[in-house]
Amino acid sequence: MSADATFDVVVVGAGLVGASVAAALADTTLSIAVVERAPPPPASAEWDTRIYAISPASVRFLESFGVWQALDRARIQPVRRMDVSGDAGSRIAFSAYDAGVAALAHIVESGAMQRALWARVAGQANVAMLCPARCASLERDGKRWRLGLEDGRSIVANLVVGADGRDSWVRGHAGIGAKLEPYGDSGVVANFATERAHEGTAFQWFRADGILAYLPLPGNRISIVWSTPEAHARELTALDPAALAARVAAAGGEQLGRLEPLTPAAAFPLALMDVEHLALGGLALVGDAAHAVHPLAGQGVNLGFGDARVLAALVREREIFRTPGDPTVMRRYERARREDILAMRFVTHGLQRLFSLPGRVPAAVRNLGMNFTDDVGVLKNLLIRQALG
Ligand SMILES: Cc1cc2nc3c(=O)[nH]c(=O)nc-3n(C[C@H](O)[C@H](O)[C@H](O)COP(=O)(O)OP(=O)(O)OC[C@H]3O[C@@H](n4cnc5c(N)ncnc54)[C@H](O)[C@@H]3O)c2cc1C
Repeated sequence: MSADATFDVVVVGAGLVGASVAAALADTTLSIAVVERAPPPPASAEWDTRIYAISPASVRFLESFGVWQALDRARIQPVRRMDVSGDAGSRIAFSAYDAGVAALAHIVESGAMQRALWARVAGQANVAMLCPARCASLERDGKRWRLGLEDGRSIVANLVVGADGRDSWVRGHAGIGAKLEPYGDSGVVANFATERAHEGTAFQWFRADGILAYLPLPGNRISIVWSTPEAHARELTALDPAALAARVAAAGGEQLGRLEPLTPAAAFPLALMDVEHLALGGLALVGDAAHAVHPLAGQGVNLGFGDARVLAALVREREIFRTPGDPTVMRRYERARREDILAMRFVTHGLQRLFSLPGRVPAAVRNLGMNFTDDVGVLKNLLIRQALG
């Protein structure tokens, strides 16, 4: 690449969402540069602790450019049923059969998906993968952006896509404000072998000490996310693996019998984040750079894939004009995504708040609500449709 290389689009960050923007544009005539500081983790026989519940809408998006088909089926678990319990005996269950779909979601490892996305763009003549590379400067140059890299290279592009995660460098350097509200909770993740078969059921418990989810992996394995106050998360991650397995099994009411540790536990701080603009003068934010929601609905990456799908579709409409950062595209992207992001914030933040209120009255209200919803087919179907995306 010369000292000043010109592209139609530059994507900063090739995590799942940024890589999916590049993959969704790989069959166009647009020239695309992807800037990423580190490659995906190598394949391993061990199971990733970063796993995602991929919604049917995200599956269709990944299928549209061949990435879903390239994933190893033996490492994907369809979710056939969801079983959610309140903190005072209430329960709500959803099944793929009731919803008339083959699976409510698919549990997929993060690393496997990222490697498949990278493989889709590798060797594409119109995509330049710049990795490892770090950004150094960003400035507006007429109708284009000039992105300087730490190694002295410089990229000029009509559209910059900020896909560089929650602490987005692009967002900061474009002067787009973000409001981050930490929940004071962390998500503790770890994988376990189970004594009993999960039969494709995802379990979730709204407990006094947080929200615990068992997500099914192929075979007798699960991955857990326990969103819990930071002090409790520290206590859990400090336990030896066998003691943690016993705590997780007890917290889940021994639903799948005894648990055996498969991976060490890790914890991630949780926050709600909203940005001032999703797009601004030839620059668009996608994925965690654009929003952060509570992981209780497992929708973070699905929201990000939604951003990538909408942005790529709008950019494709402008392909012949070679102006992907056109103000009309930016305005339509902002309008199209605001509503979905707001809806997901409303659901996840509302549930998190409702279940963190102390006292018997809030407990009675939320548990009554869950039992009521379980009995009312129409309402339950609406909730299922929201989850299917
Ligand atoms: C505990 C927990 C559980 C979760 N569970 C789920 C779930 O079940 N389902 C779900 O959908 N979501 C879940 N999420 C949310 C999900 O992890 C994120 O929404 C998703 O990873 C966002 O992807 P992204 O590509 O936008 O950002 P990231 O994954 O953060 O990727 C950003 C990329 O940008 C690169 N980068 C950063 N800065 C620069 C720079 N300056 N220059 C170059 N490259 C840069 C990074 O190296 C990285 O590759 C969970 C989150 C947590 C914390």
